Amino acid sequence: MNERSHDEAMIERISKAVRDVPGFPKPGIVFKDITPVLADPALLKGLIDTLAGRYASQRIDYVAGIESRGFILAAPVAAALAAGFVPIRKKGKLPREVYREEFQLEYGTDVIELHQDAFPAKSRVLLLDDVLATGGTAAAAIRLIERAGAQVAGVAFMIELGFLDGRSKLGGKDIHALIRY
Ligand code: AMP
Repeated sequence: MNERSHDEAMIERISKAVRDVPGFPKPGIVFKDITPVLADPALLKGLIDTLAGRYASQRIDYVAGIESRGFILAAPVAAALAAGFVPIRKKGKLPREVYREEFQLEYGTDVIELHQDAFPAKSRVLLLDDVLATGGTAAAAIRLIERAGAQVAGVAFMIELGFLDGRSKLGGKDIHALIRY
C-alpha cells in the first residue's frame, strides 16, 4: 500500500471509532467522543502519526494545544515533530503573566490564556485541537499566539464539523482536518 492510501485507510478506521453522543453536554448537541480512538493502541498511534506526518516537511517550532482535549493530541504530535509543546489554558490556570482572549459561546462567553513569554521571536507554531465547531475557540487561540509574537504556521483538527463553518472565522490560515462531517 502506498503512503497516501495507508493514511486514508487509517483515517477511515479512526473515523469509524469516533462515537456520536446525542444530547451531550446539552440538548441539540451531538458530542464527538474521541475516547474510543485514544483507548485503541493502533488508532492512537495512527492518529498521532497521521497528524504529525502532514507537517513533517515544514519547520514547526512549537505545537500549541487547547485545554483540555487539545493537550492529549498536541504533546505527542509535538514530540513526533521534534517540536516543543505549549498549553493554551482556561482562565486562571497558568502561573505567570498571560495574554487573555475572550470568545463567544452559544450561551455567554469563555476565556483562554497563554503565557506571554511562551514563544521566542519568529517561532512557527502549529495550533491543534480535537474538534473545530463554530471556530470561536480556535480564533481566540490564534489571536493569543499572534499577540505572543509568533507565527501561526498551521491550524489542525482531528475533526471538523463543516456544517458550522468554523473555518470562515480563522482568517485564511492553513487549516487541516483529518475527518470532516
Ligand atoms: P468552537 O469554539 O465552537 O469551535 O468549539 C470548539 C471547542 O469545543 C473544542 O475545543 C471542542 O473540544 C469542543 N466542541 C465543540 N463542539 C463539539 C462537539 N460536537 N463534540 C465534541 N467537542 C466539541
